[in-house]
Amino acid sequence: MDVWVEKHKCTGCAHCHDVCPVAVFEMKDRDSPEANNDHAPEADKWKGQTDGPLLAKWKDVKDGHRHFENKFEGGSGGLSVATNGSACILCQACLIECEGECIVIVDDAGTTYRSIYK
Ligand code: SF4
Ligand code: SF4
Repeated sequence: MDVWVEKHKCTGCAHCHDVCPVAVFEMKDRDSPEANNDHAPEADKWKGQTDGPLLAKWKDVKDGHRHFENKFEGGSGGLSVATNGSACILCQACLIECEGECIVIVDDAGTTYRSIYK
């Protein structure tokens, strides 16, 4: 199993980090050298630019999670990095919790799964 986050769409809500039963995701500060420590292809790596429509959609939402903050603190902020993708058991919990619809999972047969926010 391989898992990565399309970083330009990650709000930093940390829902994936909170629901994953096998700790696939780590939250990292946006300026951390570890912000791209998963298998995201070049186009999906964090380059300091957030998707504009997603920024407009989520930046002012008050749901108890911080959005688009540089630092991970207080349980949210920063962005998510799938540092432990090989542990994924494809429970799909993260796929329905991801605000940015930016989690990609590829199973061992090559089938791709993408998040769709519930
Ligand atoms: S689908 Fe995989 S990465 Fe997502 S929550 Fe389940 S085990 Fe974790
Ligand atoms: S649930 Fe999605 S948007 Fe929220 S931190 Fe995880 S990858 Fe980013």
